[in-house]
Amino acid sequence: MGWLGFFRRRRLLRQPIPIHWYPWIDAYRPDVLALPSHLREEVLRRAFVMVAEKHWEGCGGMQVTEEHQVAIALQAGRVAACFPDEYFPEVLSILVYADAYVARTQQPIGGGLYIQQETPRSGEAWYRGPVIIAWNELASELRRSWPPRNVVIHEFAHLLDMRQGGQADGMPGLPSRELQSRWAETMPASWRELQHKCESGEPDVLDCYAATSLAEFFAVASELYFESPHTLRDTWPIVFENLNAFYRAHPSSLP
Ligand SMILES: [Zn+2]
Repeated sequence: MGWLGFFRRRRLLRQPIPIHWYPWIDAYRPDVLALPSHLREEVLRRAFVMVAEKHWEGCGGMQVTEEHQVAIALQAGRVAACFPDEYFPEVLSILVYADAYVARTQQPIGGGLYIQQETPRSGEAWYRGPVIIAWNELASELRRSWPPRNVVIHEFAHLLDMRQGGQADGMPGLPSRELQSRWAETMPASWRELQHKCESGEPDVLDCYAATSLAEFFAVASELYFESPHTLRDTWPIVFENLNAFYRAHPSSLP
């Protein structure tokens, strides 16, 4: 960050959270209002800076309002809150579609040939590229309490994961060797356990999309960690412990 950015950030951090934000906080991330005051302040500060500093762009005719920005930034702020000075500097732009959009991808099929595929998406995160969010997907996830999903948390979890070499592999930068080895031992085992459950049709709190790769396992488990921490702790206690050691977003003993 240059000097200009540094002074702008410092000025932002001194400003009060706008009063008209509070109904939106209540609508889109009400748990923040119940957090201990220092943690609440961290979430709101992260959201405030991200709303001001990111380039927000509506796609496919979407008009992005301040309310949309606040709703999205609050989710990202919740993920970032316990990492010092975390504002996702690698994300310059946040693109917002009204609804799920179609992404065109190329799949190699050998011999230098590719097939074009069109897949509907509700969000995407690109290494040093934009984050893309479908607004209606997020809004409907936030309106219902079950299943607990959150596309913004999912994509920002991928971003943290991608910082280790640009590829998401389900193992973000962890603060200690001890946690690294516990993670390497227990997360793949939990992921395989979920794969078995999905293959045998056994329902689980983790969506079977999490079984597709270790990176998706980490991103989907992160959604549950923030959206329904008790559920994750009670059903996947080791996964909860690992995520809590990484995000540190919940007190060690949940009420
Ligand atoms: Zn994903």
